[in-house]
Amino acid sequence: MNAEIIAIGSELLTPDRIDTNSLWLTEKLNAIGIEVRLKTIVGDDDLRLEEAVRDAVRRSEVVISTGGLGPTEDDITRKVFARVLGRPLVLDDAILDDIRRKFARIGAPMTSNNERQALVLRDAEVLSNPRGTAPGLLIQHDRALIVLLPGPPREMQPMFSELILPRLEKLSHGIRICKRVMKTTGLGESALDQKIAPIYGQYSNPATTILAKPGEVEIHLTAKSDTTEAAVALLDELAEKIEDELFPSIYSHRGESLEEVVGLGLTVKGYTIATAESCTGGLIAKRITDVPGSSEYFLEGLVTYSNGAKTRLLGVPQELIAEHGAVSAEVAEAMATGVKAVSGATIGVSTTGIAGPGGGTEQKPVGLVFIAIADDVQVEAKPYTLFGSRQEIRERASQIALDLISRRFLL
Ligand code: AMP
Ligand code: MG
Repeated sequence: MNAEIIAIGSELLTPDRIDTNSLWLTEKLNAIGIEVRLKTIVGDDDLRLEEAVRDAVRRSEVVISTGGLGPTEDDITRKVFARVLGRPLVLDDAILDDIRRKFARIGAPMTSNNERQALVLRDAEVLSNPRGTAPGLLIQHDRALIVLLPGPPREMQPMFSELILPRLEKLSHGIRICKRVMKTTGLGESALDQKIAPIYGQYSNPATTILAKPGEVEIHLTAKSDTTEAAVALLDELAEKIEDELFPSIYSHRGESLEEVVGLGLTVKGYTIATAESCTGGLIAKRITDVPGSSEYFLEGLVTYSNGAKTRLLGVPQELIAEHGAVSAEVAEAMATGVKAVSGATIGVSTTGIAGPGGGTEQKPVGLVFIAIADDVQVEAKPYTLFGSRQEIRERASQIALDLISRRFLL
């Protein structure tokens, strides 16, 4: 079964608002085996919406729209669907009473434009909206099932989950879609694809997608079958082959983040960790503490941005900074041993580098980052030359630091 989504609202065409409804709906639809073939974002524009609706009902079995059901002049969804489907709008007294009651309950006057929300397409089923005033509508039109949902996610989501999902589940003939995400670090996108394309290329089910992000590449597998067990078996078969090929670059087999993997490993080993960050500005500490329960192993994180802070808080000798510069292997090592000492952690991690865009020199270009790890036995700093924007350089540096920890202590 295939579906398409129309997200309606001029705000969704500006850089200020993102259409998140279609992402949420797609996840729910995929989970019951319905594929989203197309989605459209259209402004509060009568003619454009008319075209979008006309095309959608002609080609898709399920058409879901969100937004434009409110009381204001720019809420045109009902009117346009009525015109395209050739069904008149009729006033529904029960809805009107319901809206009146809602206004009475909050003691607000009901303006006459709210009556518009009580207009329904002839023979449409009304989807009640306990969390707002605008009800949704469901229309069976020729072969197409058409669902009009309100825009606000807190109204749209329960309406869909409670009133639409169970119905679609029955119609979708029990096809199940299962997904698996594996994450790798240390291999570029093209190098990774060269290794595994000969493997996943032999499978159309599961389907494979490769997604690159700063510092990591994700492999997404999507399998379809009659039962969840059969879909999982398809995932297992392909995933195992990919894992064999990519070991040891894979750090996550079920979509876990690197910080979750690190946290789990530290917990199992009973290790604690502390960070001293310069160019990453606390990003490593932020990522480690994003994980619930991280207080078990994360003791403290210092952002020692100035030379003075490195000396005062970590005990990095002034002369060392003067001799080698703040961005150097020597200072990175002194930061890592310093934070390990002041915190009493098993592991000290540090970063110092030039995130740019300014501040680079010939010897020390933008993107040069030293990352050091100290434990009870040794301390070692390594230089990395990272590329990208300031933000990307910081993300990559945090990724490498976490990856170093996971490889050094947890494998
Ligand atoms: P509407 O039903 O058009 O009056 O939408 C009301 C509000 O819902 C808008 O101001 C948006 O903030 C939110 N909204 C509408 N469409 C979407 C969407 N596709 N994704 C996320 N939020 C939305
Ligand atoms: Mg709107």
